[in-house]
Amino acid sequence: MKSILDGRPALKAEVDKVAEVAGYLWQKGWAERNGGNITVNITEYVDDEIKALPAISEVKQIGVTLPNLKGCYFYCKGTGKRMRDLARWPMDNGSVIRILDDCASYVIVADNPVQPTSELPSHLSLHNYLIGSGTDYKASLHTHPIELVAMSHSPRFLNAKEITRVLWSMIPETLAFAPLALGIVPYEMPSSVKLADATLEQVKNNYDCVLWEKHGVVAVGPDIMQAFDVVDVLNKSANIYMCAKNMGFEPEGMTDEAMREIQDVFCLPKVRPTKK
Ligand SMILES: [Zn+2]
Repeated sequence: MKSILDGRPALKAEVDKVAEVAGYLWQKGWAERNGGNITVNITEYVDDEIKALPAISEVKQIGVTLPNLKGCYFYCKGTGKRMRDLARWPMDNGSVIRILDDCASYVIVADNPVQPTSELPSHLSLHNYLIGSGTDYKASLHTHPIELVAMSHSPRFLNAKEITRVLWSMIPETLAFAPLALGIVPYEMPSSVKLADATLEQVKNNYDCVLWEKHGVVAVGPDIMQAFDVVDVLNKSANIYMCAKNMGFEPEGMTDEAMREIQDVFCLPKVRPTKK
């Protein structure tokens, strides 16, 4: 069967990255059953032929109007689909959608009429904000990283400053590679408007990763690999924290001075970079 990826190596490379990340999510135990979702803005790879592709679904309402998404295209994981299947067959477990000119509806254009994730309105709201704020961020990821979710069961760690300080202090790389960690959203019903709105607020506050109490994380990044990396380094720190606790002690953590030195030497950003 002909695929939208045929003869489009740059687009294929982006979708291959999604498949690679989906495999990691499964291997790490973060993506049980159909858990998690991914959307990637692929508009930069869209040519006239793709723009002319007919819809292969009916027109579907997003549920919100998102003015910055006019004419945008997204690769979206399919609803009910498994990350471990997407890792091998990305175009059977996800699809490419086109946002219509009313900025409030979309159609599927390739390869198969796989209905996008139920979290689509919340993902698209993040993309709408990211475009409007002038960043080059194109990917949004939701997953269930075990140790971070475990920490979210403690009231102590439902404080963004406190959990961020503890995670940064576990290993120098976490501060260096997740300098915009980690926002907190108190428990809300999955797929609810309240959860989506609260997540968007945290991303507006310059957090690249947002921890949902007793559920999972949402991360955004320039591409899906970088969004994954932020979750991976934060969860590594959470794992080190838990290993120390399992050995029977509270880990000491790097000193504030040591962390300030890393911030200075690496000139770490305090806000999300924007395109000039
Ligand atoms: Zn979830």
